[in-house]
Amino acid sequence: VYDEICQRSWVEINLAAIAYNVEQIKSLLSPQTTLMAVVKADAYGHGAVSVAKTVSLAGAGAFAVATTPEGIELREAGIKQPILVLGAAYTPDEVKAISHWQLQPTLCTPQQALLFSETLSQVHSTLEVHLNIDTGMSRLGTSWQQAVEFVQLVQRLPNLKIAGIYSHFATADSSDQTLMRQQHQRFQDVIKKIGVDPQKCLTQATARRPCLHISNSAATLTDSALHYDLVRVGLAIYGLYPAPHLASTIDLKPAMQVKAKVTQIKTIEAGTGVSYGYRYVAEKTTRIAVIGIGYADGIPRNLSNKMKVLVRGQLLPQVGAITMDQLMIDVTSMPDLQVGEVVTILGKQGENTIYAEDWAANLDTISWEILCGFKHRLPRLNF
Ligand code: PLP
Repeated sequence: VYDEICQRSWVEINLAAIAYNVEQIKSLLSPQTTLMAVVKADAYGHGAVSVAKTVSLAGAGAFAVATTPEGIELREAGIKQPILVLGAAYTPDEVKAISHWQLQPTLCTPQQALLFSETLSQVHSTLEVHLNIDTGMSRLGTSWQQAVEFVQLVQRLPNLKIAGIYSHFATADSSDQTLMRQQHQRFQDVIKKIGVDPQKCLTQATARRPCLHISNSAATLTDSALHYDLVRVGLAIYGLYPAPHLASTIDLKPAMQVKAKVTQIKTIEAGTGVSYGYRYVAEKTTRIAVIGIGYADGIPRNLSNKMKVLVRGQLLPQVGAITMDQLMIDVTSMPDLQVGEVVTILGKQGENTIYAEDWAANLDTISWEILCGFKHRLPRLNF
């Protein structure tokens, strides 16, 4: 437990839980399928470099990031495995940076492929690239109807080697698989038309072919027929299930906990308002503890009066508007609570756990956004 003198709030990352989750995910994969750890957005707020080192030891064979700087950060930290950049680069300078750091870019359009090929020939370099086929997400990628021409174009262009062909599901976390199956069918049609046989072993030198991938965490947990050569797993590595109906598949342990200290305790009389706007007014004499964490640390202000925290293993209500750096809780039931005691904002204390999913449900959002929301003012402490 972090106990440095000046720190009033922090994020604890359980790297052993991350390694455990990787083992659990790998237990679903055939030996031919690579686990690509999605560590974009600073590994969903967990710290990209420490997570990448942990999952690489635990058996992840590749990484995915969203941006070129995120990929460079991993290379600078000594990560040697393939790093796929999921976002689209579209300037010559970025192409040169990708080439310099030997990242694997995503190519989404013919124009982008031409830009890469021309820029790479200027710097006398060749790059392994992944082609993104839009099978229904309507985000990046060439639409599945034009995919065959796109693949053939890139095959003809100098300085580019197609390392992968991939797509991304829009609804893999839904218990109704209809739309995911439709996307998968489109992906299968494309790979059939370009003459790639997914059954041919990727690792045999005689059967070199692009690596195929389409699964995020939800699809990986749903069906091994969707795994292909590689699965791109983010959320499950961090120990969360993409949807409640997938919770029975493997055992996952949430790796992130958020903690903060009590900085002051006071007693207020009945009728006294608490915090900006007096959105909470005490109905009786109430003991209030001030906690050193607020919306500037990533606690959503919309949780004001709606969230609970864990003190000595008990769930206690937060009261009044959450402020930039502090929030208040009702500790009337704990007359001997002391300044300096540690409160769990997210995570487990005693028998009780507050999950990112609880916040997400409360805020009508998804747990991915909750994990990514904690700011850098909160140091990440690995153990
Ligand atoms: N692949 C792509 C293209 C993504 O954008 C993401 C995340 O948003 C993932 C894979 C990983 O998704 P998840 O965190 O649901 O596993």
